[in-house]
Amino acid sequence: MSNRTFTIIKPDSVRKGNFGKIITKLEAEGFRVRGLKKLHLSQKQAESFYGVHRERQFFKDLVKYMTSGPVYVAALEREDAVPHLRKVMGATDPAKADAGTIRKDFGESIEQNAIHGSDSDDNAKAEISFFFAESELV
Ligand code: ATP
Ligand code: MG
Repeated sequence: MSNRTFTIIKPDSVRKGNFGKIITKLEAEGFRVRGLKKLHLSQKQAESFYGVHRERQFFKDLVKYMTSGPVYVAALEREDAVPHLRKVMGATDPAKADAGTIRKDFGESIEQNAIHGSDSDDNAKAEISFFFAESELV
C-alpha cells in the first residue's frame, strides 16, 4: 500500500469558500500536503483527467463542471493514503455519504460533490504526475 494519494478540491468547494475547511479536515485526518496548486482546468485537461468516463452519459456535464472555476490540486501523504482518503470523502453521491464525511458536509449533488480522490495506488501515481513534477513534492 503506497502512502501517497491525489485530491482535487472541486470548483463548487472553491466557489463556496470551503477550501480551508476541507484542508483542515484532511490535516486532522493525518494527511500531510506534499504539493498544492490552484488552477483553472482547461477543457483538454478535464477531458484527459476524467478520460475513463468518456463514454458515460454524464461526461460532458462533468467536464463543464470541472472547468467552471478554479480548483486546488494536491498530493497528499499518509499511511494507507488511497483508502483513507476515500473513506474521509464519503460516497460519490453526498446524499448517500456517511455523516462526517467531506461529501456529506460540503457536497451539493452526485455531480458537484466537493472533492476528488484517487481510487487506486496506480491512479494516484498517474494523477500526481499529471499535475506535479517530482521536484514540486516537498
Ligand atoms: P472522483 O473520481 O471525482 O473522486 P468517484 O470516484 O467517487 O469520484 P466516479 O465514478 O469516478 O466517482 O465519477 C467521477 C465524477 O463524475 C464524480 O465525482 C462526479 O463528479 C461525477 N459523476 C459520477 N457519477 C455521476 C452521475 N451519475 N451523474 C453526474 N455526475 C456523476
Ligand atoms: Mg473516480
